[in-house]
Amino acid sequence: AANHYGERIGRCFMSIRLENVSHVYGRKTPNEHLALKNINLEIKEGEFVGIIGHTGSGKSTLVQLLNGLLQPTEGTVYVDGTDLSCKSKEAVAARRRVGMVFQYPEYQLFEETVADDIAFGPKNYGLSEAEVTERVKEAMDFVGLDYETYGKRSPFRLSGGQMRRVAIAGIIAMRPRYLILDEPSAGLDPVGRREIFGQIERRYKETGITVVLVSHNMEDIAALANRLIILNRGEIAADGVPTEIFATERDVLQAAGVDVPPVTHVLQYLKERGLDVETRVKTVSDGTDTIYRALRRNGHAD
Ligand code: ADP
Ligand code: MG
Repeated sequence: AANHYGERIGRCFMSIRLENVSHVYGRKTPNEHLALKNINLEIKEGEFVGIIGHTGSGKSTLVQLLNGLLQPTEGTVYVDGTDLSCKSKEAVAARRRVGMVFQYPEYQLFEETVADDIAFGPKNYGLSEAEVTERVKEAMDFVGLDYETYGKRSPFRLSGGQMRRVAIAGIIAMRPRYLILDEPSAGLDPVGRREIFGQIERRYKETGITVVLVSHNMEDIAALANRLIILNRGEIAADGVPTEIFATERDVLQAAGVDVPPVTHVLQYLKERGLDVETRVKTVSDGTDTIYRALRRNGHAD
């Protein structure tokens, strides 16, 4: 059997695993800073993991360790069982399976046309012209940019949201098994945000790609992620199913400087005052449903 990425599905279990990982910036300088403290974590294939935490909690440091962009100062990062710090062919291949979309990725666009920019990665993999074109088309389709309309345009003449999408397409074109996105909606307007998250969700549902999404917006994460990791001062403060964490870990969230989604606040308020609503919901639309049903049961609506 082969998966979406044309790879044989073996018996071994696919995951990114961090073992006793710590990261220190500016070691042995006056600015020495311990950004991550003894992180133990496994992200399994098929998960959609949301990472949230206050500014400076270590989110960007953590995700840059996942594809070997940063080396941990202590501990080991394994991708599909391979230690990323090795200088072997396997380690290079493993790193390539982890696609990383940085914060403000549009600053890394540089080719003259949108299509050339997206083709850059696949070309470096030594794929044929036809294969590269196929991947560019697929990636543009994924981010909702029409190949005929936008392929030959300059990326620098697009809107901010469109440039962001070109940058994401460049990573998608490399068909990573793990897709890491660091604040992909930062600086976008609500329409741009909805588009980006809609496409990430669609890609996840269609291909089963593993997603790690860093965001400071709990509402976005709650709607998409099936696992939530809260970082606080370089440590994992909570790790679990988002709706469970919202229900049981309010103090931990508060200490970490993050909040439950607004809809959860509303539902918990109503529940405390005796309305029989389900507080463990993912979206505003689920929230309005449970309120409506509770009101109906009480004879307040028809
Ligand atoms: P987040 O993405 O959650 O805002 P970061 O991982 O970027 O957090 O940063 C974690 C901590 O490490 C912060 O205190 C930050 O100031 C520090 N830091 C990040 N990058 C560097 C760097 N290149 N040199 C020194 N300190 C850094
Ligand atoms: Mg960051």
